[in-house]
Amino acid sequence: MEKVICPDCQVEIISSNPMVVGDILECSECGTEVEIISLTPLKYQVLIEEK
Ligand SMILES: [Zn+2]
Repeated sequence: MEKVICPDCQVEIISSNPMVVGDILECSECGTEVEIISLTPLKYQVLIEEK
């Protein structure tokens, strides 16, 4: 299974559930959130938080 790597700190983000498109995963190290946009191939993008 392909891995989601945090673009910010390069730590692997582990999902407890099977990933689906639209999932939001949060890095346990830095809190960066990434959204799954495709599974095959695996693609994801960082969610930009508005403040
Ligand atoms: Zn991170």
